[in-house]
Amino acid sequence: MSEIPTRTRVVIIGGGPAGSLLAHLLHVRGIDSVIVELRTRDHVLERVRAGVIEHESAEILRDSGVGKRMDAEGFVHEGVNLAHAGQMLRIDFQGLTGKHVTIYGQTELQKDLYDVIDADGVPLIDEAEGVRVGGIDGDSPMVGIDRHGQEHNIACDFVVGCDGAHGVSRDFIPPGARHSYERQYPFCWVGVLSETPPVDDELIYASHERGFALCSMRNEHRSRYYIQGPADTTLDDWPDDRFWSELTARLPETVADRLETGPSIEKIVTPLRSWVSEPLRHGRLFLAGDAAHVVPPTGAKGLNLAISDVVYLVDALAGHFDHGSMTGLDEYSGVAMARVWNAVRFSWWMTTMLHRFPGISDDFERRLQRAELDYLFGSENAQRAMAENYVGLPR
Ligand SMILES: Cc1cc2nc3c(=O)[nH]c(=O)nc-3n(C[C@H](O)[C@H](O)[C@H](O)COP(=O)(O)OP(=O)(O)OC[C@H]3O[C@@H](n4cnc5c(N)ncnc54)[C@H](O)[C@@H]3O)c2cc1C
Repeated sequence: MSEIPTRTRVVIIGGGPAGSLLAHLLHVRGIDSVIVELRTRDHVLERVRAGVIEHESAEILRDSGVGKRMDAEGFVHEGVNLAHAGQMLRIDFQGLTGKHVTIYGQTELQKDLYDVIDADGVPLIDEAEGVRVGGIDGDSPMVGIDRHGQEHNIACDFVVGCDGAHGVSRDFIPPGARHSYERQYPFCWVGVLSETPPVDDELIYASHERGFALCSMRNEHRSRYYIQGPADTTLDDWPDDRFWSELTARLPETVADRLETGPSIEKIVTPLRSWVSEPLRHGRLFLAGDAAHVVPPTGAKGLNLAISDVVYLVDALAGHFDHGSMTGLDEYSGVAMARVWNAVRFSWWMTTMLHRFPGISDDFERRLQRAELDYLFGSENAQRAMAENYVGLPR
């Protein structure tokens, strides 16, 4: 742990992907920052989460010098597969958009980001508890933290909340000055990581009468599988045998026949929701990433949105520090939110189209779901729209 400075230009609350990328990109632009992170470094580095990196997100990482291992160890995917009513459809990203996505675990990316901010010399203050933010309505904000029983204060020009969905930064915006939008989905995902070869070279999204399933991967030896479960399910409900047999039942026979199962090395239950808190700025406090918006993982957008918020914000902060301009900072929330709402819409669309919604008494909505999938399976234009959203709309 670095010594705790008493002054910096930008204090970043939260050292996840958004916070650590922000610190690095600011360093590249000659702007110093300090990260205050609630958890230990090891805890942050061990969290298993996202895996799909959009075309442009990968370029941003590469251009800023964080892409070496991603390029060497990640997997370029030029398409994904959809399974529905016994048929398989490949959405050909490369053919339809000229772009692709990269499969590279968030855990690995987090390691790369911590390595680069260590090399940059950015102070990462872990185990920083009780974070407090003051002075954001004036010109000299102050961030206070407690660490191992000692109180510390850091003076700064700007504060950025990158502390994820359970963070506290947004609470420093007065309730009357922000608005939240939320959609809870009546199911969750049960996810298993296993030391088995992936069932396919590309991701498979399956819509089935028994519920949704997703076959994903981390590398040639490590697979990630998800199935839709009831909203109130717990890990105890899903011993490995039950998980594998439910997954197998939801996949097309040709896929299920080649599925290799094995002991789970990690298992999670994750609720699905869409949630947005607007605006992304109050005075000298800014929000980025999951601190301001969460999308269901179906569209693989959360990490990518964190990256795009950060890129917009770095340009805006550099505009201020280099030229004294507040224009970029004034426009940040509007510009970033336009992209966020596109991703909210896409993630909602994927989720609604592919999951079974419990408690729907007549089957009107089910027929609409089938019509949506039939249209997608039959129309190249619909496939192009899906592909362009999945690989990431241009910034
Ligand atoms: C199962 C699953 C699959 C996913 N798949 C994908 C995918 O394929 N592609 C994709 O783009 N996204 C995906 N996501 C979403 C992605 O993981 C998140 O959007 C991403 O982690 C957001 O990064 P962040 O830095 O904004 O927030 P976080 O990763 O949540 O980081 C926030 C950090 O702030 C810290 N913190 C919290 N509170 C405080 C506090 N009070 N003080 C100081 N620090 C604090 C936390 O410890 C954490 O380190 C997935 C998510 C899940 C759950």
